[in-house]
Amino acid sequence: MHQFHYRGDRLYCEAVRLESLAKRFGTPLYVYSHRTLVNHFQKLGRAMAPVDHLICYAVKSNSNQSVLRTLANLGSGFDIVSEGELHRVIQAGGDPRKCVFAGAGKTAAEIEFALRQKVYCLNAESEPELERINRIAARRKTIAPVAVRVNPNVAVDTHAKITTGTYEDKFGIAFDLIEGVYARAAKLKHLRLRGVQMHIGSQITKTGPFENAVRKMLPLVRRLTERHGLEFFSIGGGLGILYQFALVSGPAQWWRSAAARGIITPAAYAARLLPLLKPLGLRILLEPGRFISGNSGVLITRVEYVKRTGRKNFVIVDAAMNDLIRPAFYDAYHEIVPLTRRRSRMMKADVVGGVCESGDFFCKDRLLPHVAEGDYLALMSAGAYGFVMASNYNSRALTAEVLVRDRQAALVRERQPLKEIWAGERIAPWLQ
Ligand SMILES: *Cc1c(COP(=O)(O)O)cnc(C)c1O
Repeated sequence: MHQFHYRGDRLYCEAVRLESLAKRFGTPLYVYSHRTLVNHFQKLGRAMAPVDHLICYAVKSNSNQSVLRTLANLGSGFDIVSEGELHRVIQAGGDPRKCVFAGAGKTAAEIEFALRQKVYCLNAESEPELERINRIAARRKTIAPVAVRVNPNVAVDTHAKITTGTYEDKFGIAFDLIEGVYARAAKLKHLRLRGVQMHIGSQITKTGPFENAVRKMLPLVRRLTERHGLEFFSIGGGLGILYQFALVSGPAQWWRSAAARGIITPAAYAARLLPLLKPLGLRILLEPGRFISGNSGVLITRVEYVKRTGRKNFVIVDAAMNDLIRPAFYDAYHEIVPLTRRRSRMMKADVVGGVCESGDFFCKDRLLPHVAEGDYLALMSAGAYGFVMASNYNSRALTAEVLVRDRQAALVRERQPLKEIWAGERIAPWLQ
């Protein structure tokens, strides 16, 4: 569901006309909808209400401080993958005691900091990591809460760059080895085995893979709980969202169209998983990122040139792969719509940025309404893995971000001044 819709011929975010934001703050511009963030968080929370649960929003999908504050205000926990993300959460008013620390490469300094902040759990991905956590906890004369990420080895129908739950992936510890790992970890005096975790991939649009993975995990989770007194089972994130046909007229219609397209909804997810999870009697952790932030954001861009080569049409815009890398990186589809609709013929075109890479495109040979220089376009569903993956490639500044709530719009990240791009650089002394 989202709060981007046409009123007449103008595209709005909640009650704010997007073109007014483009003119006020410039482009490229990320715009997020407060109400969409809240709605997705609450929708999932309500569906999972029959079990004791904690939603730990995956910070990496969109880590803007105002996004984090919005979710912290709703009582969200956070799934973090670096010291930087933990600092961000604290800065935004989130509770470190509701943070789970994921990631296969935690450094000693990161573990130290996480223990000092008393995070809810460190999710370990290898035995050397468990040993390191134990050593650091011993030095700090404390007990570290840990869980192990299980790789359940289930197939998931998503892009190869976002599957994580098969033995081809670097993530977690193989299913068959887990009991041995817990038995050895139980002997490490400065660890408390608090839970068990899995995460099978991202943009999973069917309930099947989640159900298969949970079913496979159940006997293991029961045995581990009996032996080690676990408190939680984290079923990870990965809920997929609707990227195509992203413009429908209202919330009810949105969920109906998602259901009709067979795309996962919180209701369907809960209906399949709750009967499996409830008898465990454990606290259930969820780590959704994209599901909460994905449909909450758009990237607005301005048409610079329309270039017709005779063979093809190129719409060259002021956003580029450095602002939104998903099409280049994951072959991702983003709906592209004009901020002002006009009655016009359609044209087939590639929408591309100005970066010197042939991978710098937002779509290829897509039917779009006729556009001209100066028109604004919105790339829909760009709230997750959008700005957070932006770079300064080609010495292009990081874009600004705006958060909308009803009639209000706030600049929640200023456009990066150009000279900040090289502010940390130095001329080597022998060159001066
Ligand atoms: C990335 C990640 C998530 C969030 O994935 P989404 O597809 O955005 O829901 C959750 N848990 C872990 C461990 C992750 O690495």
